[in-house]
Amino acid sequence: MAFWPSIVVATPAHSGVGATLTYRSELSLAPGVLVRVPLGSREVLGVVWDCPDAPPEGLTEARTKAVAGVLDGLPPLNACWRQLVKFSAQYYQRSLGEVALAALPPQLRGLDSTQLARRLKKRAKAGAAGPATPGELSGHDLSDEQAEALQALAAASTPVLLFGATGSGKTEVYLRATQAVLETTVSDGESPTQVLVMVPEINLTPQLEARFRERFEPGFGAGSVVCLHSGMTPAQRLNSWLAAHTGSARIVLGTRMAIFASLPGLRLIVVDEEHDPSYKSQEGARYSARDLAVYRAKVESEALAAGTAALRTVAMPRCQVLLGSATPSLESWHAADQGRYVRLTMPGRIGGGALPRLRLVDMNHQPKGAVLAPPLLAAMSERIERGEQCLVLLNRRGYAPVLACHDCGWKSGCPHCSAYRVFHKLDRTLRCHHCGFTERVPRACPDCGNLDIAPVGRGTEQVEEQLATLLADVKRPDGSPARVARMDADSTRLKGSLEVQLAALHSGEVDVLVGTQMIAKGHDFRRITLVAGINADSALFASDYRAPERLFALLMQAAGRAGRDAAQSGASEMWVQTWYPQHPLFATLKKHDYPAFAAEQLTEREQAGMPPYGFQALLRADARTQQAAQAFLNIAAGQAAGLPHRDDITLYPAVPLTIQRVANVERAQMLVETHSRGALQRFLSAWQPVLHACRSAPEAKGLVRWAVDVDPLTI
Ligand code: ADP
Ligand code: ZN
Ligand code: ZN
Repeated sequence: MAFWPSIVVATPAHSGVGATLTYRSELSLAPGVLVRVPLGSREVLGVVWDCPDAPPEGLTEARTKAVAGVLDGLPPLNACWRQLVKFSAQYYQRSLGEVALAALPPQLRGLDSTQLARRLKKRAKAGAAGPATPGELSGHDLSDEQAEALQALAAASTPVLLFGATGSGKTEVYLRATQAVLETTVSDGESPTQVLVMVPEINLTPQLEARFRERFEPGFGAGSVVCLHSGMTPAQRLNSWLAAHTGSARIVLGTRMAIFASLPGLRLIVVDEEHDPSYKSQEGARYSARDLAVYRAKVESEALAAGTAALRTVAMPRCQVLLGSATPSLESWHAADQGRYVRLTMPGRIGGGALPRLRLVDMNHQPKGAVLAPPLLAAMSERIERGEQCLVLLNRRGYAPVLACHDCGWKSGCPHCSAYRVFHKLDRTLRCHHCGFTERVPRACPDCGNLDIAPVGRGTEQVEEQLATLLADVKRPDGSPARVARMDADSTRLKGSLEVQLAALHSGEVDVLVGTQMIAKGHDFRRITLVAGINADSALFASDYRAPERLFALLMQAAGRAGRDAAQSGASEMWVQTWYPQHPLFATLKKHDYPAFAAEQLTEREQAGMPPYGFQALLRADARTQQAAQAFLNIAAGQAAGLPHRDDITLYPAVPLTIQRVANVERAQMLVETHSRGALQRFLSAWQPVLHACRSAPEAKGLVRWAVDVDPLTI
């Protein structure tokens, strides 16, 4: 007897290959089984989607190829995983094969069943270590707020938004919730319970990983906690993936990509710092891992509920999702306002410490050209003398954003982008932060030969340099001179350097740390009592409607790094230098009043029909010329006439991106907006084939690529 499995393989989103391909097989293959199949002249990895015993109409045996091999050492990918992949492909307008295969570890693609069997055997041997010794699980005595939050979480039947101040002990809530899941016993034949914990950038928060390992490895074994993120080697990723898929890993700690991990026993998804933009992918399927977490928990819960008739003894017949933040996204906040999510609040800091006091420095009244206002410098000096630490936040790395000639007006533009190259003084280079083009700094102006070319504006390197000079006479309690260090994408490029820099701060070797937003995230620094944001203004007037939300979150998170030790928190301060001290954003920031800020923003959004009240997508086009990019968009818009829901949709004019050209490619986009998610989805699906067809329009000649971004984060 022959079977005709339909199989998904990695097809580029725009290749036009249908969702699945039909093959032939002697055996019946369960959905979710991994196979190797011929595709063109290659043999590729595929996932069985369905396995009927009759060929689809019109297909004959002669026209189908046989499945080349079955990776039978692995359990099939379960129905929930397949549903997640299917939904993601549909919702984010990509091909099923692209999403499915991108969700699997890259190394799996190269393995045949013998190699895989060897791999699994090796793992089984190694994984025998570390039996469970329950009772060793410890932790803090819960604060009242933590205990209440956990109780409410246990009772919640919708997604839960944990709105907890910085330093309120959210991590302990994640740990306890995880523990509760892991200790749930399952009935025979069921996969052991598992927890997925997502963080924005794992390398930035080695502390969190350490806490999970410390807490759970003693009781659940050395292999019970695994990581999944793009900084791992392909071999490490495969190992973590296999551990999760086979159930030997109980906790997966990962970045946004981890949302697609195969977790047959999934009962809880934690999304830490759920507001963080890095949960949204900016390439391929531009998915939001936070939104998918909510969807995935729902699918898993439905499957568990459907199965409970037979398994009534299971203590946890559902999968929960816990979103945590001190500054939740307005989307999640709104969902909680509407009662779609349960909102749990932990307003107090552990130990009862206060949140830092906001000090606004009116730059209109400071000496001309001062990078750091004298009162701020004085405050920092005082702290250093007392043995406390300061953070200085500046969202721009390098020495100066532009190098310029004051004689002829030359500026350090990038020849390949419509952007300036940044001056990096340490290695004396001009570097484009968009395409990477790097050159040595010229000795003289390339246009007129003037030797006097000078940096304009300032970045972290320069502030570090200036602070070292300005604080040169300040002494620490032991009489030694103050030490300034810098932490940004440049200083942490080398593997391990971030850990070294964090350790220097934790141990007190460094008094002042200058850095980009990287220093504002998640860290639990104990001796920081002053945080300063020195160039926040640009975000106050940015064109992106999400800019205030982001600025507020950044400043509040940054402030959250100060005064985490309750003994010092009373005197902790957040300084912000601004030319616009009257701006209303600062008034709410001063009160640490996120709810008031969110309410204000949501009212504005509602009036303007913006998300979360309206729904958006972007159609993006990259081409050799701006004209071709825009032509593609305009043709696509023209041909949208008559598509379902076209009347409910606003298609805005095609516009160039703010940074119009990157790496010699011209970029344009068109905003798609409507009041209903369903309308947007149906319209976009109907538009897909039109977009494929528009590609070959003569006016769009020179089009390099196009993409749809659903629920875009930047417009
Ligand atoms: P958040 O993530 O909410 O900013 P953390 O989870 O980092 O806060 O907790 C802040 C600090 O408080 C950490 O050092 C943590 O170890 C400590 N902590 C958390 N819960 C408790 C508790 N119940 N008792 C004592 N210390 C706690
Ligand atoms: Zn010049
Ligand atoms: Zn460039």
